[in-house]
Amino acid sequence: MNLVWYRNDLRVAAHSPLHAALTESSISAGETRPQALAVYCLCQGQWDRHQVAPLRRWYVLESLRELGESLANRGIDLHVLDVDTFEKVPEALAEFAQSQGVTHLYCNREYPLNEKQRDTLVAERLREQGIILRGFDDGVLVPPAALRTGKGTPYTVFGAYKKRWDVWTADHHPAMTPVPSQCRAEGTFMGAKVVAKALEMLDVPEALTQQWAPGEEAAWQQLDQFMERSLADYRRNRDFPDLSGTSGLSVALSAGTLSVASCFRAATQAMADAGSRDGAACWIDELAWRDFYRQIMAQFPRVSRGQGFRPETDLLEWKNDDELFAAWCEGRTGYPLVDAAMRQLVATGWMHNRLRMVTAMFLSKHLWLDWRRGEAFFMTHLIDGDFAANNGGWQWSASSGTDAVPYFRVFNPVRQGQRFDSEGRFIAHWVPQLRDLDSKQIHEPWKQPLLARDYPPPVVPHAGVRERVTVAFKAAKSRFDKTS
Ligand SMILES: Cc1cc2nc3c(=O)[nH]c(=O)nc-3n(C[C@H](O)[C@H](O)[C@H](O)COP(=O)(O)OP(=O)(O)OC[C@H]3O[C@@H](n4cnc5c(N)ncnc54)[C@H](O)[C@@H]3O)c2cc1C
Repeated sequence: MNLVWYRNDLRVAAHSPLHAALTESSISAGETRPQALAVYCLCQGQWDRHQVAPLRRWYVLESLRELGESLANRGIDLHVLDVDTFEKVPEALAEFAQSQGVTHLYCNREYPLNEKQRDTLVAERLREQGIILRGFDDGVLVPPAALRTGKGTPYTVFGAYKKRWDVWTADHHPAMTPVPSQCRAEGTFMGAKVVAKALEMLDVPEALTQQWAPGEEAAWQQLDQFMERSLADYRRNRDFPDLSGTSGLSVALSAGTLSVASCFRAATQAMADAGSRDGAACWIDELAWRDFYRQIMAQFPRVSRGQGFRPETDLLEWKNDDELFAAWCEGRTGYPLVDAAMRQLVATGWMHNRLRMVTAMFLSKHLWLDWRRGEAFFMTHLIDGDFAANNGGWQWSASSGTDAVPYFRVFNPVRQGQRFDSEGRFIAHWVPQLRDLDSKQIHEPWKQPLLARDYPPPVVPHAGVRERVTVAFKAAKSRFDKTS
């Protein structure tokens, strides 16, 4: 029997392991069609360790429920093993595989360190039982080790990576993996009780969950809607948080209710239409960023260990100020765009990309707080919390990462507001204390103390930040050079 191990790929369409498990299965006595089994290891203890947001857990569990039913309709049983942490997965899977007469295990690869270690142990444990593990790379468009610089090293600069990425994706256009057809008259979602119990134990306010639609079907609808309504103007609108200019597909992509290949195929098809070409090309760039950070995570284990991509930045001496951190988390820094963004995150479980950069840079450069604190806070709230993208985005913003323009990039939070929320609509929506200010005043409320009475003054000044950051980075680099 072939077994498909589901992880962050909770779908039936465009799923290479499922397709391979079925096409490579032998038809056993008494059956007329190929068969396979599916399994998911529910690791709630690992979710705790990885600070996975309750809202994300809800999305995953609800999507798992839909997947279980969708597989059952196709005659495939999905089992859910309740195993707490990754350490317990090899033994649990080995026992399960033994009980079901499994000969082959099929799954998509994952690239963070803990996940790779888990998979190595699983492969070793199953090998002892004569079970062969087959890995696929549906989580990316270009497998992490596929592209190398002329020196044979991994790419660390996005621009150069993207050039090679374009060539690779043109040469290896992702094939359409068919949705599996009916295997048996009907299967059973064997994990229904485990999932229902885990959902019961979750405490997520309905005000949060009702904003999101889990599952594969909803993800396809969202993709279709984005293609139809927003792709053509994506480049023009993508930076403006009060427009629905982006796809909102990050949660579907990170939990795998939609495959990145399906997104890429849809975007390349849209390029045939002159009106959508530019928007589609720009959107494909973002899919490449997603791949880029996954290959960074796969090739540089230090980033999975909480270390800076640039080792010298681990010598930076961050401030340890809980008051400032709380002001940032709660959206009361006195900088309207930063505060609006943080309130959006807490109230919806999502934040616009431009604002993720603005708030991350503000925490690490203006407040001079360790970016890891912000990274963790994002994880505990984001529905799309994705280790590679979140870590990559945080390290880029804090200049400890792969940005080719290190440490001179300091966004001015006021100017960012004037540029990307010029009418102040986004700010007024999330910070009601500022609704009486006009579109000019709203970005600098400290100049209107009578109109912005309930709003705090800036917790730190913007002036001098670039100079301070530059000095600190130079000092860390020189200390690093002396000691290494
Ligand atoms: C500090 C910081 C933290 C971030 N944390 C996460 C995270 O936890 N999870 C996450 O999916 N993205 C993260 N991002 C990347 C980006 O902000 C989100 O992917 C994007 O806002 C999601 O909205 P969307 O689906 O409408 O994106 P679109 O603009 O429609 O982009 C399409 C897809 O491309 C991918 N993508 C877009 N931008 C990036 C990027 N900069 N890096 C990697 N992938 C990208 C996402 O999968 C996204 O769904 C982070 C960025 C920063 C700066």
